[in-house]
Amino acid sequence: MQLHAFWCMSDNSARHYQNSKCKVPARRSFMAEGWAALHQAALDAGAEVDYWPPDYPELRNRSYIDGEQYAALLQPLIELAGIDTTTLGERSAVVKAAVWRWITRLAKGHAPALWKYLGGLKSRQALMSAFADFKAGKRLAGNPGYVSRDPVTVVRFGFWLTTEGKVSGEHPIVPILWGLAIIGAGWGEHLRCGYCRLCFRRSRPSEPYCDFHTQSGATKENRSDAYIRYRRGCLAKALADKRGLESSLWDDRVAKHSNERLTLPNVLFPMTPADGWKSDREWLVLSLERAPRVVKQAKLSGFRHMPHEELVAHLRMYIDPNEWDDFAWGFRVLRAEIWLTLEGEVSPGKRGRGRRTSMLVQEAIRLACEGAANGEIAVRLGVSAPAVSRWIKRYPEFAAVCAVRSR
Ligand SMILES: [Zn+2]
Repeated sequence: MQLHAFWCMSDNSARHYQNSKCKVPARRSFMAEGWAALHQAALDAGAEVDYWPPDYPELRNRSYIDGEQYAALLQPLIELAGIDTTTLGERSAVVKAAVWRWITRLAKGHAPALWKYLGGLKSRQALMSAFADFKAGKRLAGNPGYVSRDPVTVVRFGFWLTTEGKVSGEHPIVPILWGLAIIGAGWGEHLRCGYCRLCFRRSRPSEPYCDFHTQSGATKENRSDAYIRYRRGCLAKALADKRGLESSLWDDRVAKHSNERLTLPNVLFPMTPADGWKSDREWLVLSLERAPRVVKQAKLSGFRHMPHEELVAHLRMYIDPNEWDDFAWGFRVLRAEIWLTLEGEVSPGKRGRGRRTSMLVQEAIRLACEGAANGEIAVRLGVSAPAVSRWIKRYPEFAAVCAVRSR
């Protein structure tokens, strides 16, 4: 990116803005955090001028923006705020403070109650439920929708509110304040997303287990299922420890790297890689070829012919719903395969049931050879009549015997 000639401009105006009374308050609200995150996302997405500091000592290592790019990414916010980045010397910190000052002024003038209320909220949960209440009575035409516990849809919704949202009967600053608060709370929360204590999956913020292994939130009906999944996870984890598979499943360094890879600019200003998804897709397909269990669980039997986006959508739906990084799947598929293999090994219930059924079927075949009818077989084996019909369909040797019997 070209460095613009803005450093030649008077630095006085810039210094004036920097030293003026408009400062981000010391006690940061979600709104202030949202604005700081959004500003930084725009810089990271390409609005920061990239220069080699030793070649430009006059810039004193400060951050400068490409005003046009910055305004384009955050439109129409910058235009509404009447910010002329050139006048501000294209200085990143100065522009950031000037926009924040505009937001503060409008908020205090046109939505003082909301400003105070949002400024006092301390938890994401409180904010999201307050927003749901606010939203309930409003028509937000064209809104992209969000899933409250999904940080990506939440921050995208916040971005939409900040840049496009209109609330009928409300001052334009109202959706901006809500949007920034949602970005601030939603993104901060995402950074606290952890890893399951048992398996390779991601967990929701402040949750010790992934969606598959958590027991919190289980209803009366599915409590025992949740417990069985949790127990199976514990057994699989013990098996993994015994076999020394920790580094294949939970490499701290790789996990951390992957955790940090999903950035706000990726979410708000998504870009596809230079070669499209070609090389990522190739890697993913190679991984899937080595991962039959993942292919089965994620319903990906046609994976060789599916586009990258579709592969990722399936994997996210069936393998790890909290992994938001589209680039992370190549090695996560291999981890998932190791994990599913371990869980398969420690599922005695399933295996036992299979063994018992095949013993019953052998017994049913013996009875059928003796001429017993299906109803009689069911009674003698203590199973239902439909179960016997199912076995006939599923076990060809049983079907063969029945065919002879009925002749
Ligand atoms: Zn888990």
